[in-house]
Amino acid sequence: MGYIELNVLDHVVKNVVLGIDLGTTNSLAAIWDADGPRVLAPEGESPIVPSVVYVPEKGKALVGSAAKAQAVLDPTHTLFSIKRFMGRGIGDIQADLAMLPYKVSETDRHLVQFEVRGKKITPQQASALILQEVALRAVNALGGADIIQAVITVPAYFDEPQRQATRDAAKLAGIEVLRIVSEPTAACLAYGLDQKGEGNIAVYDLGGGTFDVSILRVDDGVFQVLSTAGDTALGGDDFDRCLIRRFQDELRAQGCAEETLADPQFLSAARLAAEHAKRDLSSDPSTRIQLSLPELGLDYRTTLTRAEFEALITPLINKTLDHCRRALADANLKPSDLDEVVLVGGSTRVPLVRAQVEAAFGRKPHTELNPDHVVALGAAAQAQVLTGGRRDVLLLDVTPLSLGLETMGGAVAKMIERNSTIPCSHTEGFTTYVDNQTGLDLNILQGERELAANCRSLGQFKLTGIPPMPAGMAKVAVRFHLDADGQLTVTAREESTGVASTITVEPMHGLTDAEVEAMLHEGYANAQADFDHRRAVELITEMGTMLRAIEKNLEAASPQLDKETLEDLAEAMVAAKAAIAKGPEAIDKAAVQATRDSLEQASLPLAAVLMDSVVKKAVSGKQLGDL
Ligand code: ADP
Ligand code: MG
Repeated sequence: MGYIELNVLDHVVKNVVLGIDLGTTNSLAAIWDADGPRVLAPEGESPIVPSVVYVPEKGKALVGSAAKAQAVLDPTHTLFSIKRFMGRGIGDIQADLAMLPYKVSETDRHLVQFEVRGKKITPQQASALILQEVALRAVNALGGADIIQAVITVPAYFDEPQRQATRDAAKLAGIEVLRIVSEPTAACLAYGLDQKGEGNIAVYDLGGGTFDVSILRVDDGVFQVLSTAGDTALGGDDFDRCLIRRFQDELRAQGCAEETLADPQFLSAARLAAEHAKRDLSSDPSTRIQLSLPELGLDYRTTLTRAEFEALITPLINKTLDHCRRALADANLKPSDLDEVVLVGGSTRVPLVRAQVEAAFGRKPHTELNPDHVVALGAAAQAQVLTGGRRDVLLLDVTPLSLGLETMGGAVAKMIERNSTIPCSHTEGFTTYVDNQTGLDLNILQGERELAANCRSLGQFKLTGIPPMPAGMAKVAVRFHLDADGQLTVTAREESTGVASTITVEPMHGLTDAEVEAMLHEGYANAQADFDHRRAVELITEMGTMLRAIEKNLEAASPQLDKETLEDLAEAMVAAKAAIAKGPEAIDKAAVQATRDSLEQASLPLAAVLMDSVVKKAVSGKQLGDL
């Protein structure tokens, strides 16, 4: 007898290249393939995934709209504005802390981490969940893929640790990053402004949590960021906060307790109501707000006009305009030198924002594309270019902040000036300052201030192995290299003797490779645990169904079963009931499986008796021919 031959289909490995806008508030993916540029979403759904993660008591985290819906019900376990914490230390985010309903702490390496239900989650891990959700929705819309590659955008203002944190998040999500691109650059690509002969462009991006303005120059397909300015902590969230403060002031005047006004549930509900009202006011002259939280004994109603709202947010808009003037000055341009102005981000839907930007730049801004989609579409355009697409465009980014080294006495030696076009590198000579010094401590700094103490330390390292010699004799060449992604590599070499030493730079607020590995591992371990837990729940449910069926039929069938069978069955039933009583948490999957299998085994004779009687019943009264 021969074997049946199975046709093994050759599995074609399909890879997709996405453009992903990983936003503070919302994230989404787009693609630019043979069918042209478009945002991706499962049939009938929005492409926008709120950048929110909900951590349930057990089981998998919820991401996106489902998580956002939990924010009101269970605010302390819902993470939002995660991007604000990417690559940051706790000192960087003090101002944000008071507003957060969830707990934030610090790792030994001064990384921010969230604490939810006793679990610690880094911003990179939380962002990885968002990236995964966005990518999976996109890939499903495309009919599946095995390999996901992506261009991911970050605000132009993001510094090296923040970019690195974004790369790490993608790695955790199983996404291969082709390039990190700044959001304003992506927006220009989406508008095809690279195809203009030449011109100067201002991109004004006001999202939920960040503001960026960038001045770009396009020259025959060469695309250069001339300058950037902005604020990583200014956006539509702050508009919402203005409204929350207004609600609080009014409630306080009505005699509401401070405790209630600081309650996480109140803050969450107020945030949703504020955002809703703000959106209404982009199209309507006034809106009604209603906040009823019976558990807190609170029922608040108020009306808000667009004029009142505009008065509240004017100082914030003025801040953005200051940044615009600064970016123009840095690019050595006047408003009249601009050829295009592009609006990006959901908050540019606020009419006052549009009007003020138009007035500041003296030019009507582009608003043809959906401001929520522009960045993802541009990222997809860049992905298409990188994978050999038809457009020929060269992106020249700039570094948003100066980079340097701490020198004697805590001063800063600038190595790379802010707004330098990347990739770029700079080498400078340093020397020892005491006799027989065999090591040199190097502190890599970022920032515009003159004193090291006022700059941000990106990392420290020691060059060792310098041969003993008189002070000032050693010649140490330090090279700063920023690659096209804005990734910084610093190397140092003692040149007078040719002795080479190796150094490693570990960003203070980034994850080490070992940490990324550990998290990846943990991710897989949890995936297995999640799976096992789900299986245990299923098995227990199944046993419950089996028990009910057995109990229902046992009495009628028992005369036809022998004593041994009945004893075995009784024993298996006791074990199954015990397992159900313990619940899926207390027993591992293998044990539940074994219990369920013995129950099935013990009930086989009963099943046979039942089958018999069913068949007999069915057969009686029927013609043989009917069977
Ligand atoms: P991010 O880039 O930070 O993820 P988005 O570009 O998605 O943010 O913008 C989100 C912000 O836009 C939120 O603060 C949201 O409230 C705001 N927003 C969205 N639609 C409107 C609207 N119609 N009017 C005013 N603000 C809006
Ligand atoms: Mg954005």
